Amino acid sequence: MSGPAQGNVRELKNFVGGQFVAGGRTFENTTPVDGTLLSHVHEATREVVDRAVDAAAAAYRETWGCMPVAARCDILYAVADGIDARSDEFIEAECLDTGKPRSLASHVDIPRGAANFRVFADLVKSVGTEAYQQDTPDGAGAINYSVRQPHGVVAVISPWNLPLLLSTWKIAPAMASGNAVVLKPSEETPTTATLLAEVMAAAGMPDGAFNLVHGFGPGSAGEFLSTHPGVDAITFTGETTTGSAIMRAAADSIKALSFELGGKNPAIVFADADFDAALEGTVRSVFANCGQVCLCSERVYVERPIFDRFVSALAERAEGMKLGRPEDPDTQMGPLISHEHRDKVTGYYALARELGAGIVTGGGVPEFGDERDDGAFVEPTILVGLAEDSRIQKEEIFGPVCHITPFDSEDEAVAMANDTDYGLASTVWTTNLARGHRVAQQMEAGINWVNCWFLRDLRTPFGGMGLSGIGREGGQHALNFYSEQKNICVKL
Ligand code: NAD
Repeated sequence: MSGPAQGNVRELKNFVGGQFVAGGRTFENTTPVDGTLLSHVHEATREVVDRAVDAAAAAYRETWGCMPVAARCDILYAVADGIDARSDEFIEAECLDTGKPRSLASHVDIPRGAANFRVFADLVKSVGTEAYQQDTPDGAGAINYSVRQPHGVVAVISPWNLPLLLSTWKIAPAMASGNAVVLKPSEETPTTATLLAEVMAAAGMPDGAFNLVHGFGPGSAGEFLSTHPGVDAITFTGETTTGSAIMRAAADSIKALSFELGGKNPAIVFADADFDAALEGTVRSVFANCGQVCLCSERVYVERPIFDRFVSALAERAEGMKLGRPEDPDTQMGPLISHEHRDKVTGYYALARELGAGIVTGGGVPEFGDERDDGAFVEPTILVGLAEDSRIQKEEIFGPVCHITPFDSEDEAVAMANDTDYGLASTVWTTNLARGHRVAQQMEAGINWVNCWFLRDLRTPFGGMGLSGIGREGGQHALNFYSEQKNICVKL
């Protein structure tokens, strides 16, 4: 890691033009597992962000942007190999920054982080273009064809819930397309981004093609980057309100934008569902990563004949969930990302109580009697009995909690599921395949599952409707965002 370490406390610097550089002041990064200090992080000043954007623009013009595609891809494969080679370090860093179980980081976050570079390097080598033959009045005709051109400098602004996975999901296609990147990771999770900068340098990445600036949003690196006239496109994952702020900031210079934002995702369980599969899938979709996945289900609709049985079975699973430290192999759920976020989640637990919800299980903060009491743990929680127009059913909570509502007909379930301003994901559980297709096609969401959850083919379009975002990434869709298509018309 860059800079001197004091004991086990690291010093994390910005990465600009191929060098690790200091910022203005430093801020502390602690683990939500027990509050231990992990690192002092150098916050990028406006001047550091300016240098990062300038370095990216130069790399785009002089090295990375004009490199043959095959040579670019070789470096991206080396980045993937570099992550794999230091996988244990990446896993440990991700677990300490987020508190997530080691099993999750080692099976999902870090391998997917490496895979993103391979997938998009493979894809960019096989990408095609459009061509059209056109009639002309003189009969000679014309040919139109399109070519792709990178934007230039792409700012990647990423969240804390799946730090390496979600940032590389954007860095990899942006760089495969020939753009230079400035990454602003979440202030909560700066470590794997810093390790990635080291891997980039070791993989032979030209100076300035990948840059990293640490800091916060408003009045800090996030704002400096999103308002910077030298940034051509912004790809952002995070909260809807932050998306609005970035959209306003980007308006003056009409930057290209791709937004993956919040969700309030429904899961619909029909009485004819395979009960055990629906239960297992719903346990995952509500509690995975302590409920901190944008695709998690926070509204569960269960057909009345199986409602009571499903509620008690889900409650039993929630109560049996082992909360613990990342390195404990029995741990199923870690803490929330921070005490601040825990205050938000427990605030919703209190609101549910005030509104008269039935708290089937949870609703509080667990007591361990050890150092985990200094962490940001919260109880997995199941609510029932609230009206569909209550704030609990309308606002994203982003914790290990769902509200379960009974329904009596397919139409009623579809109407309730779609009664939201968000539109990220939905899940339907049924053994009637025709119904599965029918209901999924009526869902007003970008990502829809039937009899599964979180099953992802990286070639498919990924993104949300309404308050959940604009644009689609994934496979060819990502390459479409990270390049401009130019048409060339040749008169024959
Ligand atoms: P956040 O919006 O608070 O922060 C995300 C990033 O934006 C951070 O790097 C932050 O520093 C930066 N930021 C904050 N304010 C900014 C500003 N004014 N200008 C520029 N940058 C700014 O989100 P979070 O709390 O880190 O992540 C959780 C949210 O992300 C949830 O709402 C979740 O649903 C959403 N999310 C969505 C997806 C998706 O694919 N749709 C995936 C993961 C997370």
